[in-house]
Amino acid sequence: QSNSTEENGFKGHGMLAPFTAGWQSTDVHPLVIERSEGSYVYDIEGKKYLDSLAGLWCTALGGSEPRLVKAATEQLHKLPFYHSFWNRTTKPSLDLAKEMLSIFTAREMGKVFFTNSGSEANDSQVKLVWYYNNALGRPDKKKFIARSKSYHGSTLISASLSGLPALHQKFDLPAPFVLHTDCPHYWRFHLPGETEEEFATRLANNLENLILKEGPETIAAFIAEPVMGAGGVIPPPKTYFEKVQAIVKKYDILFIADEVITAFGRLGTMFGCDMFNVKPDLVSVAKALSSAYVPIGATLVSPEISDVIHSQSNKLGSFAHGFTYSGHPVACAVALEALKIYQERNIPDHVKQISPRFQEGVKAFAGSPIIGEIRGVGLILGTEFADNKSPNDPFPAEWGVGAIFGAECQKRGMLVRVAGDNIMMSPPLIMTPDEVEELVSIYGAALKATEERVAE
Ligand code: PLP
Repeated sequence: QSNSTEENGFKGHGMLAPFTAGWQSTDVHPLVIERSEGSYVYDIEGKKYLDSLAGLWCTALGGSEPRLVKAATEQLHKLPFYHSFWNRTTKPSLDLAKEMLSIFTAREMGKVFFTNSGSEANDSQVKLVWYYNNALGRPDKKKFIARSKSYHGSTLISASLSGLPALHQKFDLPAPFVLHTDCPHYWRFHLPGETEEEFATRLANNLENLILKEGPETIAAFIAEPVMGAGGVIPPPKTYFEKVQAIVKKYDILFIADEVITAFGRLGTMFGCDMFNVKPDLVSVAKALSSAYVPIGATLVSPEISDVIHSQSNKLGSFAHGFTYSGHPVACAVALEALKIYQERNIPDHVKQISPRFQEGVKAFAGSPIIGEIRGVGLILGTEFADNKSPNDPFPAEWGVGAIFGAECQKRGMLVRVAGDNIMMSPPLIMTPDEVEELVSIYGAALKATEERVAE
């Protein structure tokens, strides 16, 4: 490795890193980020970027919150590790579980199970649901219904639940017990003349037909992100969750809310479930739970499910599932502090105040001839490039329109997520109004440059 640009013969960032951890990181000259401050990150050459994706939809409190550093350091000094197995645990994990149960108010929750990530949280959901159904004497109620274009993680089971073909191809996925139903993307999938409500009704009917075709006695759970994230930022059409919830309830199917992106204020409510009046049986969280300063995820479990799992009459024995780092005391101490900050600073309200300018500022560019749709809610926003403003006319992939826009943003000091011709933004929740203006202005300048290059 060398930090010298000349030595490596690469323009821009000089770190020679043929392989780095994580997917899509085989570029020989990755952007190497060295430090962060508030809503900004800095690369090893000192260039400053507005981090419009908050890392990976996760550094909700920005990159330099001293209280989180203090919480981690104090816990590291006091008790860097103890586990949460065999009726032993630590104070930070108990306190955090208690706090999580108290701030999730969409419905009463009974217990929390800690993981290290969102993928593990969703994997754990599958085991919890299977164990619950086994305890109730209905082992055949096993299948999961997820949605096309959803993202639920990268492990074998969470990737199976995800509805993105790239996660399935070449991996023999999805697993046979996972089914996928419609993606609720109105712009792309509505029929001519169909209203949002009619679209939602049609999708709910399709879901019911799928359940009936498979046999309701074989379907264990339905999983959904309140706003789809990695699939391209897709908020639900009006009345969608109302209708879908009624269907799953009718057939005694559990509802899992994957709040890995939407929890802790991203939409302007503490949880996505609050915004869409979703009353889930299980909830997955991660990312902003610790503002991503340390890895931690969790599942919240309804009292009905946790009571069955812990009941004396349950003859299955203990729920044999857990990770060495489940309830890691340092991660829990940091997460507990993050939850305190979200509440003390009323972060959901702050998001409510700054997000209209963020949404309207960017959506003002929706008339651009190269933009198909801009969509979002709160501090999450997706842009989809398309020719003729039509979902049926994508630009040729080799034009790389999304990549051009991403590079134009980066040149101007802003990092966005690019996935094909989809651009995604979910900035830190602590953004200031000035930073929102900066984001909108860089977006506009990068768009203009992209329009010019597409027209060439
Ligand atoms: N669920 C959702 C909605 C996500 O967006 C993600 C990650 O982006 C995951 C689950 C997986 O979380 P992790 O990457 O922490 O495993």
